[in-house]
Formats: sequence, structure tokens, C-alpha cells
Amino acid sequence: MRRIGLALALSLPLSLSLPLPLLAQARTEWNTVAHDLLKQLIEINTQESNGSTLAAAEAMAARLKAAGFADSDVTVLSNAPRKGNLIARLRGKKLGKKPILLLSHIDVVEAKPEDWTLPPYTFVEKDSTFYGRGIADDKDDGAINLALIMRLKAEHFVPDRDIIVALTTDEEGGPANGVDWLIKNHRDLIDAEYALNEGGGGRVKNGKKLSHDVQASEKKVQNFMFEATNPGGHSSVPVKENAIYELAAALSRVGAYDFPVHLNVITRAYFERSAPITDVPMGPAMKAIAANEHDAAAAAVLATDAQYNSQMRTTCVATMLDGGHALNALPQRARAYVNCRILPDEDPDSVQAQLQRLAGDKVKVTKHRGVAENSPPSVASGLLMTELERNTKEMWPGLPVIPTMSTGATDGRFLRTVGIPTYGVSGQFYGPTNAHGMNEHIPQKAFYDASEFMYRLVKSLTGSPIS
Ligand SMILES: [Zn+2]
Repeated sequence: MRRIGLALALSLPLSLSLPLPLLAQARTEWNTVAHDLLKQLIEINTQESNGSTLAAAEAMAARLKAAGFADSDVTVLSNAPRKGNLIARLRGKKLGKKPILLLSHIDVVEAKPEDWTLPPYTFVEKDSTFYGRGIADDKDDGAINLALIMRLKAEHFVPDRDIIVALTTDEEGGPANGVDWLIKNHRDLIDAEYALNEGGGGRVKNGKKLSHDVQASEKKVQNFMFEATNPGGHSSVPVKENAIYELAAALSRVGAYDFPVHLNVITRAYFERSAPITDVPMGPAMKAIAANEHDAAAAAVLATDAQYNSQMRTTCVATMLDGGHALNALPQRARAYVNCRILPDEDPDSVQAQLQRLAGDKVKVTKHRGVAENSPPSVASGLLMTELERNTKEMWPGLPVIPTMSTGATDGRFLRTVGIPTYGVSGQFYGPTNAHGMNEHIPQKAFYDASEFMYRLVKSLTGSPIS
């Protein structure tokens, strides 16, 4: 209560000089609903070690029922102890159109209070900023999606298809991924023509909005183990054949190697549309690579930026090492782990073959911990792209909508793999995110603007007579 009091006090000078309707715009009824949902979500600890996504899912289910949703349209499914998933449905007209799925995850990265200067599981508002673990990733989207269907219901808006909101567990790497489990066990509950998910948002540089980015593709993750073995012996009589040296030489060759540049429909559009809003020398290099992916000079310029480099090609990097067994023994075994981010349309087997060529015949390369999921790029349907552009233009005139490929992974890969195209769309504009970091935060205005944007977008996607 004290924090809300503070927020009101800060807006008081405005209230003295502005007429009432303008004051109402500053904090609408629906901003308040989204705010309160976010506060409640943040204050339920949902980290893997000692939190409960089940508690968060149940709390949000209760909020939906209090807002008039029928019990039969609000489902909480637990797929492991303390793990919960909420699936809610706003019923649409029966026109035979497949639903739209609004996906977010309610689990969060671990937050140790001693590593923070603010309490991670208290919703803190100060200096027009919201703080708390999960506030940028991804409880903000959960609160926005819930507020949005509550608002549509309160307006008696009947969409031209069902709108499904799913808040799921274990996106951040826990053992009970909710999306994967729902696809395998309750596909009917979340089946959709397409999904809107995290992973997109505004591009902001030095406080200036540059573009509204829509994530339509993700790289695949595949880990490999490099292993060299040797009979070993006493370290006082070394021989030239040495497992650690062989491994080190193999890793040096991997470090020096660049996978070929290869653009897909999303990354080509990304470079093409980003070129006019990007400074020299990157802007012209983007234009050149979009026109011809074999332009080596342009690729060399872009490769000096780690982000652009990762958009153009598969990357592999050594992340962990382990080897030897005694200070006075020749190593019998040396291992390294190499983490690859593979382009969506590239085959992990061909990446493995290339790594094995680089490693040479003394070092064995094998896949480590599972096999990369296939994740084809999602190509935006006409109506979705039209409405994204129209609503962006209405709220942020002059900003281009630009498709992007994430170099990291989200739950979108599970949906894309089973044929549900998935787009990262958020309407949130702020500078570099500190998701997963200390004192995770987002600007209050970015949250409220995003809430309004998503409401307008989903309404226009489901209210239009054409599709
Ligand atoms: Zn996330």
C-alpha cells in the first residue's frame, strides 16, 4: 500500500493541473488491473529450487474466475510437484477458425537475495520503474495477456475465434517444461493457428526508438563433447602424444573457424530492414549481405559485432573443460564441451561432421545431452503482419516492424516443431534488458504501453471480418 501511495503522490502535481480525462489516461482501469496481476505474480516465488509455479497458476486462475470466466474455461494442470500451468480460454464465435495462443512462462531464473540490493520477490515501484525477479522475463507478458482477455470479456467483445492464454512452467531450464508437456498430453487445450510469445520487442538505442522487432525464428541448441584419451604414464617421462595437448589443439582450430554465412527468409529481411536505421559501417554492410550472402567484405564487417555475427551463421564455442587425474600423471582423458547455436535450417549432423574434421582423428566428437529440436522459421500470415504494422504505426508513428531470429532459445521452438507458427511480439520498448540479472526491472511506461498495444493487436486480429 505504501508503494502505491508513493506512485500516486508522484503523479499529484499532474492531477492539480490536468483535466480529469487526461488524468484518467495516465493510469487507466486496465493499467491498474495489469499492474495488480503483475504485482501478485512477482510476489509468488516461482524459482526452481524452492518456488512454486503451481501456486502462481492457481492464483491467476482465481483472478480469472473472479473476473467472470467459467470454471470450465480456466484449467490448472500440474505436471510435477510444485509445477503448474494455467490455460484459459476466451470463447469466440464458432466460425471454424483455429484459436490464437498467447503464451508466457511463469517460472523464473533463481534469484539469491544476497546478490540483489532489492528483495527479488517483492514488487518494488520507484522512479517510474518496476522491479522484481521475472518482471522482464516473463511475468510481464503473463500479466498483460491475462489483463487483455479480462478487458475483452468486460467489454463483451466476442472474438472471431477462441483466444487462449497459457502461463507455463520450466522455460528457464527446469525439468518439467510445460509447453513440451502440454503438446504431448493436452494438445487440444493449446492447439492454435499461431502463437504470440516472448522474444520480440522494441529496439531502443540511446533512448531513441528505432524499430519494433518481431521474433519469427530461433537458433537451435546442440552441445557436443570433445574427448581425447591416452594410456597415460608417469609425468617424469613425458611423450609427445598427450590427451590435453590434442584436445587443446582441436579446440584452437574450432575457435579459429567460422561457419559459412547463410541467411534465411527472416534474417535476410532483418538485415534489409535494419540497414536504413543503422549507422555506417554496419548499415551498408547489412544492405550488401541481404542482397548477396556471399559478400565476404560485408560479412567481415558484420562479424565484428557478436550479435550480427550470430545472426549470419552457426556458432560453436567451448564452454567447459575437464581433464587429467593427478598432478604427476600423464593425462589419460581430456574433455571439453562445445555449445553450438545452429541456424534453424541447418542439420546438427553436418555441424558435428564439421567439428569432427576440425578436431582431427585423435579427438572424438559426440552429441552431448539430447539432440537439437527442429525449429523452422515462422512466416507471418498476411493479417498478422498487416495488423502488427497498423497497430505499431498508431502507437509509435514512423517505426518499422522488423522480423528477427533469436540466437537464444524460448519455448517457441516446441510449438514451431509441431507446426504452430510462433512469433515473439511484446510491444515493450526499453534499452538493454537485465533479465536474469540483479534487480531485474522494466520501465513502468513500457509495461503500460505494451499492455495497450497487445490489447489492440489481439482485438484487431480477432475482430476483423477478413482473415
Ligand atoms: Zn523467458
